[in-house]
Amino acid sequence: MKILHEHITKHARILPNSIIKVDNFLNHQIDVALMQEIGKEFYERFQNENITKVITVESSGIGVAFATAMQFNVPVLFAKKGDPRNMTPDVYAENVHSYTRNATYRIAVSKQFLTKEDRVLIVDDFLANGQAALGLLSICEQAGAHVCGVGIVIEKCWQRGSVLLREKGVHVESLAEIKEITDEKVIFA
Ligand code: 5GP
Repeated sequence: MKILHEHITKHARILPNSIIKVDNFLNHQIDVALMQEIGKEFYERFQNENITKVITVESSGIGVAFATAMQFNVPVLFAKKGDPRNMTPDVYAENVHSYTRNATYRIAVSKQFLTKEDRVLIVDDFLANGQAALGLLSICEQAGAHVCGVGIVIEKCWQRGSVLLREKGVHVESLAEIKEITDEKVIFA
């Protein structure tokens, strides 16, 4: 996806531990024109799957999920982190280890919003070790919902996320695949 590659090349900054900072356009300040294109691209790739819901984890996945769900004309469902007081106790939940924060936290969605009739597209801004996506996959499995695929904006190919997901038979689509980081520059696959 040319426009996404251009944004990454122009704006991405490399932090210690190979964390890619894209808060200029993706997960802090959001470039809405780019986000709309991201939504259209995921629609192109999953349009035959009869998606009924787009699911992600708060907060950095919400923009991606919203733009994608607009194209499918379906709701967004985002898993909440921690133990929110304003949530019913009736939840599907999973523990997830965060790569960027090096901490484990709980993600949860209310049972009323995810059912076995749902055909779900999981989306996120990054795929690294796959923990966020695997956590969402587990939540969908608990609900009996069918996972049609995982849509990722930026995949860090040297980490194991995509291998772990594909081993489980999940259809993964990544819009930008970064092979490595050399001299503080990203190298696309
Ligand atoms: P995973 O669960 O696949 O290990 O990591 C994905 C999650 O961690 C994403 O939700 C994303 O927010 C965060 N993440 C992983 N790697 C990066 C990175 O290089 N940059 C940023 N900004 N977030 C990342």
